[in-house]
Amino acid sequence: VKQYSKINIEKCPLCNSNVFSPKARPKDFRVSNETFYVVSCDGCGHTFTSPRPADEELHKFYGEESYISHTNSDKGLFNKIYLAVKRYATKKKSHLISEVAIKGKILDVGAGTGDFLNACKQQGWDVYGVEPSPIARVYAREQFQIELQTAEAVFNLPKRNFQAITLWHVLEHLPDLNEYFNCFEQLLTEDGTLVIAVPNFESQDARFYGDDWAAWDVPIHISHFSKLTMHKWAKKFGFQIVGIKNMPFDSFYVSMLSEKNQHSKFSFVKGAVQGLLSNLKSGKDNASSLIYIMKKINS
Ligand SMILES: [Zn+2]
Repeated sequence: VKQYSKINIEKCPLCNSNVFSPKARPKDFRVSNETFYVVSCDGCGHTFTSPRPADEELHKFYGEESYISHTNSDKGLFNKIYLAVKRYATKKKSHLISEVAIKGKILDVGAGTGDFLNACKQQGWDVYGVEPSPIARVYAREQFQIELQTAEAVFNLPKRNFQAITLWHVLEHLPDLNEYFNCFEQLLTEDGTLVIAVPNFESQDARFYGDDWAAWDVPIHISHFSKLTMHKWAKKFGFQIVGIKNMPFDSFYVSMLSEKNQHSKFSFVKGAVQGLLSNLKSGKDNASSLIYIMKKINS
């Protein structure tokens, strides 16, 4: 990516402070090889990539080919294991939703190829999804007969309509968190459940790999979350976090990618060891990625 316009974040989107401290200097290992700044707000701790590519330039940094969640290729051992794990994890996610939310209409934001919604459909959910990638939307239609809408459509959906809204590794990609949280609050019924999975920069593997931690994933990860800041975001929009769950497979996946970033030999084995250590040290709620389960405060 040779030329593109950058934006500098002047005001914290969570608390409006303008004093930030450096947090990490990770590299974009996916496309540009460029180093970016991750900063934390001194006022509230919200952590974000700044400067970052302007919203309309971000697509240049996705590097479609290596974007594994959209490829579904089963060539090679890594991809085979990845796909098997993905199938299992998808099922587990749909079971979790059926446990924590009242069954009815579910909206998956950034639905990808529709695998998760398909699993929900099989459990009796009425499924809806938005997804920016046209290729992924076609796949969801042909593979699962699920009609996903464009990303922008989320702002025009009927209010107080969904019992569950889910974002699986999507929130960290969204440009304006205030706009989206506000939208989710409006779309959910009063007894609705918001489920958000994001990387956790306070995990053991994040500390171990530092700037090489694969889940910084700059610049396409615009925001980065800890339990503290997620609590603050929830509160700002009238939600409370009622549960936090580890995503144990992410520790392995992220550790293996981090080893690759460090060009280490046997990255698969070393990543597996670090992933295991991270899970062992993470306790109940501090793994590489966390699932936050939120309800409206007065529900
Ligand atoms: Zn702040």
